[in-house]
Amino acid sequence: MSASRISVVVGTLTALFLASCSGPETVPEGHDEGHAAHWGYEADNGPDAWGSMDPEWILCAEGLEQSPIDLTNATEIELPGAEIHTPSKQEVGMLNQEGVIGALDNGHTIQINSKTGETMTVGDRSYALVQFHFHAPSEHTVDGEHFPMEMHFVHQAEGGALAVVGVLIEEGAQNLGIAPLWAQLAEAPGSETAVRIPAGFADYIFPGDAGIYHYDGSLTTPPCSEGVKWYVRETPTQLSKDQIAAFTAIYDNNNRPVQARGDRTLYLDEKPTVTIY
Ligand SMILES: [Zn+2]
Repeated sequence: MSASRISVVVGTLTALFLASCSGPETVPEGHDEGHAAHWGYEADNGPDAWGSMDPEWILCAEGLEQSPIDLTNATEIELPGAEIHTPSKQEVGMLNQEGVIGALDNGHTIQINSKTGETMTVGDRSYALVQFHFHAPSEHTVDGEHFPMEMHFVHQAEGGALAVVGVLIEEGAQNLGIAPLWAQLAEAPGSETAVRIPAGFADYIFPGDAGIYHYDGSLTTPPCSEGVKWYVRETPTQLSKDQIAAFTAIYDNNNRPVQARGDRTLYLDEKPTVTIY
């Protein structure tokens, strides 16, 4: 194993309420409350327009280490051993930021805010789980191919550094970890609803062993901040056709296109040491 080590401690995470204008990956420090611009995924406010909609979003147009990317031609690496904690058996807040398809408002996703304090420590840096959310189709592609969906677990260290764990989703068996969340999808538009994460949630979302892609990227939503450590699980997790349809009936095409990799190296650890709770 490599010299550094990832471990996870459970810490306290203050409840985080995102500003009304914030998006899927926007974090409190980078909140854009007060901005007149409302980004989205339509022609006039979508990814191609983000960089010119607000001076603070210039990286969306000019950044050189942006996300997502196509996951291909990876360099083999041994990543540090990892432990990832996910919410389990805990009341969390589900924030459906906008409930109407095509609404040209901020934040087109289902987002579950963590209020219970999971943290992930990578090397000497501890990241708190802020929230997780969904995109359809996937933002990352593998050898040019999209998956039906992708989950992002957004972590933030003190000082603002970000790490995101990505989970690709393919069509398959019903996911019993997602089912309780989806049961409340229709009840949550525009408001925060208390939902209970089922026991064994991590096992449903991170089943079995999987390789992990790693690279340095960015937020995939404005302000497209860089310096984000990405860890994307190689093996997709399954949701049923109906579960995928339930999400895309509310949010579809809330994915940023893949960005140029440039000089960056994409790493893949085929057999990472990862413990997930
Ligand atoms: Zn995302």
